Amino acid sequence: MKRFIEGVSRDQAILFPDHLEDFVGEDNPVRAVDAFVDALDLFGLGFSDAAATGRPGYHPSILLKIYVYGYLNRIQSSRRLELEAGRNVELMWLTGRLAPDFKTIADFRRDNSKAIRKVCSQFVALCRQVGLLNSAVVAIDGSKFKAVNNRDKNFTPAKMKRRMADIETSIKLYLSKLDAADRNEPALPAAKVTRLQERIIKLKEQMVELKAIDVEHHLIIAHEVTSSGSDRGQLVKMANKARSAVGSKEITVVADRGYYGGEQLLECAENGITTYVPKPLTSSGTKRGFFIKQDFIYDTKNDVYICPAGESLTKGAHRSDRQSDINFYRHLTACPNCHLKSRCTTEKLRRIRRWDQEDVLDDIERRLEEKPEAMKIRRSTVEHPFGTLKAWMGYTHFLTRTREKVAAEMSLHVLAYNFKRVLNIIGIGSLMTALRA
Ligand code: SF4
Repeated sequence: MKRFIEGVSRDQAILFPDHLEDFVGEDNPVRAVDAFVDALDLFGLGFSDAAATGRPGYHPSILLKIYVYGYLNRIQSSRRLELEAGRNVELMWLTGRLAPDFKTIADFRRDNSKAIRKVCSQFVALCRQVGLLNSAVVAIDGSKFKAVNNRDKNFTPAKMKRRMADIETSIKLYLSKLDAADRNEPALPAAKVTRLQERIIKLKEQMVELKAIDVEHHLIIAHEVTSSGSDRGQLVKMANKARSAVGSKEITVVADRGYYGGEQLLECAENGITTYVPKPLTSSGTKRGFFIKQDFIYDTKNDVYICPAGESLTKGAHRSDRQSDINFYRHLTACPNCHLKSRCTTEKLRRIRRWDQEDVLDDIERRLEEKPEAMKIRRSTVEHPFGTLKAWMGYTHFLTRTREKVAAEMSLHVLAYNFKRVLNIIGIGSLMTALRA
């Protein structure tokens, strides 16, 4: 008896199946790629019609199928796709044994950047049709990806480090709020004190959890490639994109502190977008050991701030510019003789600024206190997809230069991510049924 399984002799004549079809099983994802691309109105989406200009060429569906298949299987380079088209039976099945050269493949991605982005949106629309976007709660986050000409920077560890620092600062902030609660017992309800204590415990737990790998997966319903290093100013744009993708008038958006901006949050509130965005912890007073604004409790009914010494700071000077109206609250007589002054201000009086639309920001803070798990949901929703995408992209992340081309690459990555996700959630049978509907 032979000890190991043996292969066939290389000289033996092999009878391959007569049809390419026989190589591709009924549950092979390549069938979903084929059905998805065939269901698209490619010229309506803006793909260039080479034949219309007199030059015979490949139909865009062939090249798009090659790309969607390639990104699903982590083959992104045009040279590798050319190679695979000539030897990979799944690709042969998909293209009808057409094998365009690498330049044709690369030119297609370069020339159809906008249309490729629309294909990504079409798949999100399909997700909505099959009922995968019903919750109307979306998480927004940004992540830095390496451009081709920026090979030596990986921001992920630094980002994690920043987040850990943020959590430590949050703990300090809540501890200082508890201090304030001790001093102003009547002003702060017992329930709030309990909530603060719970938050501190949760934040300490998070410091441990952050080191673990999150296993949840979610769909990416909107994305944007920007060269801006900051998330600030992106909230309204991303929230509106997400809202149209979800197809709901009102949505809830969860984002991290980088997206915090008064005007942006106000615009969201005015547009029916409920936001969960924590305040940035950038007060210079914290570093110097001074009381920060959060130590002063706003009393809406009387329009005063209760300071850590229990005094009521009333509205004084008003400043107005083209963008906002700011009121300053102070106590004219209490500060100079206050026993806490050395921890409060080096000026004659401590002044607290209040934007005339600050109720919107207070509402967000209240919401976050009532639902402290919101930020945890954001993390588990957003960070894993970014990590997965980066892993699929490989070391260099993007293969092309310029924002337009990088945006097309990103769309193909996002499409591939969502495709795999949907296959995992509903299975190829249901996806095929949806595509044929
Ligand atoms: S210095 Fe003024 S604002 Fe600060 S705690 Fe004392 S009274 Fe309140």
